[in-house]
Amino acid sequence: MDILISGASIAGTATAYWLKHYGFNPTVVERAPAIREGGYKVDVRGAALDVAERMGVLDAIRARSTDMRIATHYDGSGRRVATMDADLFGGRQSGDAEIMRGDLNEILYDLTRDHVEYIFDDSITGIADDGTVTFERSAPRRFDLVIGADGVHSNTRRLAFGEESRFARDLGYYISICTVPNHLGLDREEAVHAAPGRTANVYSTRQDSNAKALFMWSSKPLSYDFRDTEQQKELLAEAMAGVEWEVPALLDAVRDAKDFYFDSLTQIHMDRWSSGRVVLVGDAAYCASPASGQGTSLALVGAYVLAGELAAGDGFDGYEREMRAFVDANQQLGPANVKGMVIPSRAAIWFQLKMIKLLPHLPGRDKMIDRIAGAIHRAATAITLKDYQPLQERSQVSGPSAS
Ligand SMILES: Cc1cc2nc3c(=O)[nH]c(=O)nc-3n(C[C@H](O)[C@H](O)[C@H](O)COP(=O)(O)OP(=O)(O)OC[C@H]3O[C@@H](n4cnc5c(N)ncnc54)[C@H](O)[C@@H]3O)c2cc1C
Repeated sequence: MDILISGASIAGTATAYWLKHYGFNPTVVERAPAIREGGYKVDVRGAALDVAERMGVLDAIRARSTDMRIATHYDGSGRRVATMDADLFGGRQSGDAEIMRGDLNEILYDLTRDHVEYIFDDSITGIADDGTVTFERSAPRRFDLVIGADGVHSNTRRLAFGEESRFARDLGYYISICTVPNHLGLDREEAVHAAPGRTANVYSTRQDSNAKALFMWSSKPLSYDFRDTEQQKELLAEAMAGVEWEVPALLDAVRDAKDFYFDSLTQIHMDRWSSGRVVLVGDAAYCASPASGQGTSLALVGAYVLAGELAAGDGFDGYEREMRAFVDANQQLGPANVKGMVIPSRAAIWFQLKMIKLLPHLPGRDKMIDRIAGAIHRAATAITLKDYQPLQERSQVSGPSAS
C-alpha cells in the first residue's frame, strides 16, 4: 500500500517508521524546506515511553534529555521567592523524559530518512476520491491512503473534513516561545515570573549555550497573519507591556529571534478522525494544546496505534476504538493545567507561591505531589498498547475499513 503522510514532525515521522515496519510504503511531504527545529521542551510520558522503547529510540531520547534541575519563581523586582524541583514543576514522575522538540524530531527523522521518501518544500493541494493527490510543486501521484500529520492547523484536515473553526476549541490563552541569549546565566534552571493573567519563563537546558523564553497570557482571540512573525512579536510585546522582572530585556531579545513560535492554545475535537481514504494523527486530529504537556506523547502513541491497526486489518475503526478514551483523558489536562500556569489575580499568585514554599514542610506532602503529577501520569498511561503483528508474519493483509 502506498501511503502519503503530510507533515514531518513527531506524528509524521513516527507514523512513517511504523508503517515501514509493517511493510507499507510511506512517503512524507513536509511544507518546510527541512525538518523543523525549535520549540519548547516536550515530555515523553507513560505509554509513549513504551512506544519510544519499541522504536529503539528511548536511549537516544534519554541521552539528549534536558536534565533540568530546578524551577525558581521571581517577583517583579527580581527577588527569588520560591524554588521547586524541575520534575515536580513539569509534572514528571520517575521514568518520564523531557527533550527539546527539535531534538526529538531529529532523532525520529534520522531513524526513517534512509528508508522513507521525504519530499520537502511542498504541500498537498487536493485529494481526489480515487486517491490522486495534487501538490503545490510535485506532479500528481496516486496513493491508497493519505494521513494528515500536519499539526493543529492541518491542511489535510481542511481538505478532507472542512474548515478549522468546526473543530477548534480556543482555551483563551496565547503562547510564544523563542531562543534568547542566556543573559541570566541559567544552568539547567527554569526562571519564572507571574503577573496577573501573564506568565514569563526563561530556561536553559543541558548543552544549550542559549536560553528559551516562553510567554503565556490569557487573551480573547487575536486576528493576525499566521506568516507575519514581526506582527506576532508586536502582539506579544503589547500583551506583556508593564510586566516587570526580566521581561523588558527578554522582549528586546525576542526582536532578534529567528525561531519565533506564536499560537493560541487551541484544542481540536472531532467525532471521527477518518473520512474516505484520509485519516488524521497527532495534533491534526486531537491537539490537546501545549498546556496538556501531552501533545508529543499523544502523537507517538497515535502513530503506533494507527499503523498497527492498519497492519492488523482493523484499519480506521480499530484506530478510533483504541485511541478515543486515551485522547479524551489527555485533552482534559489542557484546560485544567493552564489554570496553574497563567493565574488571573495577585492574590492567587501569592497563594500559589506560598504553597510552593510550604510544600516540602507540609505533613500531606506526598499526597499533594501525587495530586499534581498523578493526574498527568494517569492520563499518560490510560491506554494498553497492543502487540501488533508485523506484515511479513501475516499470510494476508486487509486494508483500512474506509468509512
Ligand atoms: C516549530 C514548532 C514548534 C513547536 N513548539 C512547541 C512547543 O514549544 N511546545 C509544545 O507543546 N508544542 C510545540 N509544538 C507542537 C508539538 O510539536 C506538537 O504538539 C506535538 O509534538 C505533536 O506533533 P505533530 O507532529 O502532531 O504536530 P506538529 O509538531 O505541529 O507538526 C506538524 C508538521 O506539519 C508540517 N506542516 C504544516 N502544514 C503543512 C502542509 N500544508 N504540508 C506539509 N506539512 C505541513 C509542519 O511544518 C510540521 O512539521 C511545536 C510545533 C512546531 C512545528
